[in-house]
Amino acid sequence: MRIDILGVGFDNLTPEQMADMGMALLSTEGFHYAVTPNPEFILAAKKQPEFLAALNGADLSMPDGIGVVYAARILGRPLKGRVPGIDFASTLLARLAQQEGRVFLLGSKPGVAEQAAEKLRQAYPGLVVCGNHDGYFQEDAPVIEEIQSAQPELLLVGLGAPKQELWMRKNGPATGARLAIGLGGALDVFAGVTERAPVFWQKLGLEWLYRLFREPWRIKRMIKLPLVLWYAFIARLRGGGR
Ligand code: UDP
Repeated sequence: MRIDILGVGFDNLTPEQMADMGMALLSTEGFHYAVTPNPEFILAAKKQPEFLAALNGADLSMPDGIGVVYAARILGRPLKGRVPGIDFASTLLARLAQQEGRVFLLGSKPGVAEQAAEKLRQAYPGLVVCGNHDGYFQEDAPVIEEIQSAQPELLLVGLGAPKQELWMRKNGPATGARLAIGLGGALDVFAGVTERAPVFWQKLGLEWLYRLFREPWRIKRMIKLPLVLWYAFIARLRGGGR
């Protein structure tokens, strides 16, 4: 069941159920894509109809942020919990490795996807990282062609939002992949270029605070995030969800 949070749809699944759905999409003909919206996405989508359409057109949408879980609670439509995109991707990579599946990495600064490929090959023996490309290209066509000839089943797209969602929606079908996941800065984490918050912080729902300590410039982006909770509160008072 998809839950509407201020206009953006979220699949109300546990991390395991989300991974099962991901695997099912990987073995279903045609192209599919998954999105990982956080409160920042919800605020941006309010102002960008194309971004909203790309989010709501996804085959799978997971709440990648504690703020989304709180907003759902305020709206009276609680979600089963947070499903970080990076955890979802890691689970799929582990399962894909068991069947010697193929993944292509697209995004991040030059060199980073390559580094991530190396780390993922070590972490998931059996996994075929069939190609990678940085996220700072001008033309789509050569990149699509490169992905297509590498024949991945899974495509990890880390171009930042909303670029990655718009890119997947527009170009995904031409890549020949079965499933693409919009993953923000996850390739940087896989490469070891940036670090995720320790599990203790993650469990407390404070991954955002850890990130803020590490990357203080994010305050400019984060300062607006409590607005999502405020909008949810107003929507609840009005008896609606938008
Ligand atoms: N990025 C990219 N191409 C661009 C803009 C950004 O590949 O044109 C990458 C950037 O290098 C980073 C990721 O997209 O790896 C976005 O990271 P950010 O931390 O902003 O995203 P978040 O995780 O917050 O969604």
